[in-house]
Amino acid sequence: KNEGKNNFKFFSKEIDDESHFRHYLENALRGALSRNEFEVFYQPIVNLRTEQIVGFEALLRWHEPIYGDISPAVFIPCAERIGVILPIGEWVLREACLQQKQLRDEFGFDFIMNVNLSGRQLREFDVVHKILDIVSETGINPSSLNIELTESVLMDNSQSTINKFHALRAAGVSISIDDFGTGYSSLSYLKRFPINTIKIDRSFIMDIAHDSEDQAITLAIIALANTLKLTVVAEGVETQEQKRILRLNNCEKAQGYLFSKPLPSTALRDTIESFLQP
Ligand code: C2E
Ligand code: CA
Ligand code: CA
Ligand code: CA
Repeated sequence: KNEGKNNFKFFSKEIDDESHFRHYLENALRGALSRNEFEVFYQPIVNLRTEQIVGFEALLRWHEPIYGDISPAVFIPCAERIGVILPIGEWVLREACLQQKQLRDEFGFDFIMNVNLSGRQLREFDVVHKILDIVSETGINPSSLNIELTESVLMDNSQSTINKFHALRAAGVSISIDDFGTGYSSLSYLKRFPINTIKIDRSFIMDIAHDSEDQAITLAIIALANTLKLTVVAEGVETQEQKRILRLNNCEKAQGYLFSKPLPSTALRDTIESFLQP
């Protein structure tokens, strides 16, 4: 009986702490942008045939003064819930486009910049205008911007969403399906949506060298992408063996710790240089 009581106390305290933490996060998130607590990191995307960096994914970091760095997997859903994902997402997009422009000027190469867009952002009626405004304001080529959307976002196949995709494509912006293979939706959206790129989720790549099912699924996705003339990117590549299998099976691009972790813009230059060495 005593134990039960203790358990209950422990349990309720945990819930208490958790809701306290969430409350804290929500409040802190509202002011984080104006307090300059965000930073965009960039993870190289490599062409597996040439082993050259062809682009980057912009990944948001939050240096929270009390708790330290908080994972975007934690704070992005929170930012979506309270709506601040809209100004934050816009800020990330502008930062990433400015970075793209700077890298183009410095290296004379038009890297593709991938930016994650949350469902909440896509649902805004003027999202396409906002994106294209930032593109022209920063002076980048629309074709060097790639917007990443997850499968769950695509499940909303309302006409207005489809129209937004077409408007972006018409302006030259490309679109990736992120975390491909993890969602609930069917393959039919590959036909309905004007998509350029499929990003194979890390969960399939992880055991590709040891799990024959994961390997079969991955190779099927690569074959599907190649047949449909879509670019395919393998996410979360960490080992030479994974790279070898992917390359052997005509996976065009890859991203992962094997090549580089996401980096702050200051450290990015050295990594790009090191890839340029013969
Ligand atoms: P994601 O879009 O699937 O991003 C890839 C995640 O995998 C990143 O985690 C990246 O650091 C990590 N990663 C890359 N290579 C490897 C690897 O070889 N091994 C392992 N274990 N992990 C690898 P991160 O940066 O923590 O971001 C987590 C998620 O947060 C992202 O998943 C994305 O859904 C979301 N996110 C990050 N930045 C933004 C943003 O600016 N806007 C929105 N809407 N979501 C974002
Ligand atoms: Ca992504
Ligand atoms: Ca992903
Ligand atoms: Ca993910």
